Amino acid sequence: MTETKTATAACQVCGGSPAVKAKFRWMIVMLVGMRLAWEEQYFCRVCALARHRQFSELTLKLGWWGVQGFAVPFVVLLNHSNVQQSRNLDYPTVPDPCAGTGRSVIAVDGGGVARVRELPSRIPARTLDPGRPLHQRWATYVGPIVLAVLVVALIVARFTWL
Ligand SMILES: [Zn+2]
Repeated sequence: MTETKTATAACQVCGGSPAVKAKFRWMIVMLVGMRLAWEEQYFCRVCALARHRQFSELTLKLGWWGVQGFAVPFVVLLNHSNVQQSRNLDYPTVPDPCAGTGRSVIAVDGGGVARVRELPSRIPARTLDPGRPLHQRWATYVGPIVLAVLVVALIVARFTWL
Protein backbone atom coordinates (compact mmCIF):
# COMPACT_ATOMS: atom_id res chain seq x y z
CA MET A 1 0.00 0.00 0.00
CA THR A 2 2.68 2.42 1.07
CA GLU A 3 4.85 1.22 -1.80
CA THR A 4 2.21 2.07 -4.41
CA LYS A 5 1.62 5.46 -2.84
CA THR A 6 5.33 6.22 -2.86
CA ALA A 7 5.70 5.18 -6.47
CA THR A 8 2.88 7.38 -7.74
CA ALA A 9 3.47 10.49 -5.62
CA ALA A 10 5.15 13.43 -7.30
CA CYS A 11 7.49 15.95 -5.72
CA GLN A 12 5.45 19.02 -4.75
CA VAL A 13 8.40 21.27 -5.52
CA CYS A 14 9.51 20.13 -8.99
CA GLY A 15 6.75 17.71 -10.05
CA GLY A 16 9.21 14.86 -10.51
CA SER A 17 8.78 11.33 -9.26
CA PRO A 18 9.49 9.17 -7.39
CA ALA A 19 8.89 11.16 -4.22
CA VAL A 20 8.27 10.48 -0.54
CA LYS A 21 6.58 12.51 2.18
CA ALA A 22 9.09 14.30 4.37
CA LYS A 23 9.05 17.01 7.01
CA PHE A 24 11.69 19.71 7.36
CA ARG A 25 11.85 22.32 10.12
CA TRP A 26 13.54 25.64 10.68
CA MET A 27 13.89 27.78 13.76
CA ILE A 28 14.79 31.41 14.38
CA VAL A 29 15.57 32.62 17.90
CA MET A 30 16.18 36.30 18.68
CA LEU A 31 16.67 37.04 22.39
CA VAL A 32 13.28 36.13 23.84
CA GLY A 33 11.39 35.71 20.59
CA MET A 34 11.40 32.56 18.54
CA ARG A 35 9.77 31.17 15.43
CA LEU A 36 9.57 27.47 14.65
CA ALA A 37 8.06 26.38 11.36
CA TRP A 38 8.00 23.33 9.15
CA GLU A 39 7.03 22.10 5.73
CA GLU A 40 5.62 18.61 5.28
CA GLN A 41 4.95 17.41 1.76
CA TYR A 42 6.17 15.11 -1.00
CA PHE A 43 9.78 15.61 -2.03
CA CYS A 44 11.94 13.89 -4.60
CA ARG A 45 15.47 13.02 -3.47
CA VAL A 46 17.06 16.18 -4.86
CA CYS A 47 14.46 18.66 -3.56
CA ALA A 48 14.43 16.88 -0.17
CA LEU A 49 18.18 17.34 0.15
CA ALA A 50 17.92 20.96 -1.00
CA ARG A 51 15.16 21.74 1.52
CA HIS A 52 17.03 20.03 4.36
CA ARG A 53 20.13 22.10 3.64
CA GLN A 54 18.18 25.33 3.16
CA PHE A 55 16.19 25.02 6.42
CA SER A 56 19.09 23.62 8.43
CA GLU A 57 21.37 26.44 7.28
CA LEU A 58 18.76 29.03 8.28
CA THR A 59 18.44 27.35 11.68
CA LEU A 60 22.21 27.17 12.14
CA LYS A 61 22.52 30.85 11.22
CA LEU A 62 19.60 32.33 13.18
CA GLY A 63 18.62 29.70 15.74
CA TRP A 64 21.31 30.22 18.38
CA TRP A 65 20.57 33.75 19.53
CA GLY A 66 18.52 33.16 22.66
CA VAL A 67 17.82 30.63 25.40
CA GLN A 68 15.92 28.34 23.03
CA GLY A 69 19.11 28.03 20.98
CA PHE A 70 19.82 24.72 22.68
CA ALA A 71 17.25 23.21 20.27
CA VAL A 72 19.32 24.01 17.14
CA PRO A 73 21.19 20.66 17.04
CA PHE A 74 17.90 18.79 17.43
CA VAL A 75 16.23 20.66 14.56
CA VAL A 76 19.22 20.02 12.28
CA LEU A 77 19.51 16.35 13.28
CA LEU A 78 15.76 15.84 12.71
CA ASN A 79 16.07 17.35 9.23
CA HIS A 80 19.08 15.15 8.61
CA SER A 81 17.22 12.01 9.63
CA ASN A 82 14.11 13.01 7.64
CA VAL A 83 16.14 13.31 4.44
CA GLN A 84 17.42 9.73 4.69
CA GLN A 85 14.29 8.04 3.32
CA SER A 86 14.46 10.03 0.09
CA ARG A 87 18.07 8.97 -0.48
CA ASN A 88 16.93 5.53 -1.58
CA LEU A 89 14.79 6.98 -4.36
CA ASP A 90 15.89 7.18 -7.99
CA TYR A 91 16.69 10.58 -9.42
CA PRO A 92 13.42 12.34 -10.29
CA THR A 93 11.96 12.44 -13.76
CA VAL A 94 8.75 13.81 -15.22
CA PRO A 95 6.74 12.32 -18.09
CA ASP A 96 8.12 13.39 -21.44
CA PRO A 97 5.54 15.57 -23.23
CA CYS A 98 6.91 14.23 -26.54
CA ALA A 99 6.22 10.62 -25.57
CA GLY A 100 4.00 8.84 -28.07
CA THR A 101 5.21 10.86 -31.05
CA GLY A 102 7.09 8.20 -32.91
CA ARG A 103 9.52 6.98 -30.31
CA SER A 104 8.16 3.44 -30.63
CA VAL A 105 10.21 0.30 -31.09
CA ILE A 106 9.33 -3.00 -32.61
CA ALA A 107 9.96 -5.81 -30.18
CA VAL A 108 9.85 -9.44 -31.23
CA ASP A 109 8.58 -11.67 -28.45
CA GLY A 110 9.52 -15.27 -27.72
CA GLY A 111 6.94 -16.64 -30.15
CA GLY A 112 8.37 -14.61 -33.02
CA VAL A 113 5.48 -12.12 -33.04
CA ALA A 114 6.52 -8.54 -33.64
CA ARG A 115 4.80 -5.90 -31.55
CA VAL A 116 5.06 -2.14 -31.57
CA ARG A 117 5.90 -0.86 -28.14
CA GLU A 118 6.09 2.73 -26.95
CA LEU A 119 9.22 3.51 -24.99
CA PRO A 120 8.26 4.87 -21.60
CA SER A 121 9.83 8.25 -21.95
CA ARG A 122 10.84 10.41 -18.97
CA ILE A 123 12.93 13.55 -18.78
CA PRO A 124 14.88 14.88 -15.77
CA ALA A 125 12.79 17.03 -13.44
CA ARG A 126 13.73 20.65 -12.78
CA THR A 127 14.63 20.29 -9.13
CA LEU A 128 15.88 22.71 -6.51
CA ASP A 129 19.64 23.11 -6.33
CA PRO A 130 20.90 21.29 -3.23
CA GLY A 131 24.07 23.44 -3.20
CA ARG A 132 27.01 22.68 -0.94
CA PRO A 133 26.84 20.23 1.97
CA LEU A 134 26.21 21.91 5.34
CA HIS A 135 29.75 21.31 6.57
CA GLN A 136 31.02 23.43 3.65
CA ARG A 137 28.87 26.46 4.55
CA TRP A 138 30.12 29.24 6.81
CA ALA A 139 26.72 29.55 8.54
CA THR A 140 27.27 26.17 10.17
CA TYR A 141 30.19 27.49 12.20
CA VAL A 142 29.09 31.00 13.21
CA GLY A 143 26.86 30.02 16.13
CA PRO A 144 29.25 27.53 17.76
CA ILE A 145 32.24 29.89 17.28
CA VAL A 146 30.45 32.91 18.77
CA LEU A 147 29.20 30.78 21.68
CA ALA A 148 32.68 29.34 22.25
CA VAL A 149 34.22 32.85 22.20
CA LEU A 150 31.59 34.03 24.72
CA VAL A 151 32.28 31.11 27.03
CA VAL A 152 36.06 31.67 26.81
CA ALA A 153 35.56 35.41 27.42
CA LEU A 154 33.45 34.68 30.49
CA ILE A 155 36.06 32.27 31.84
CA VAL A 156 38.87 34.76 31.20
CA ALA A 157 36.84 37.55 32.84
CA ARG A 158 36.13 35.31 35.80
CA PHE A 159 39.81 34.71 36.44
CA THR A 160 41.21 38.15 35.64
CA TRP A 161 38.82 40.79 36.95
CA LEU A 162 36.71 39.12 39.60
ZN1 LIG B 1 11.67 17.62 -6.60
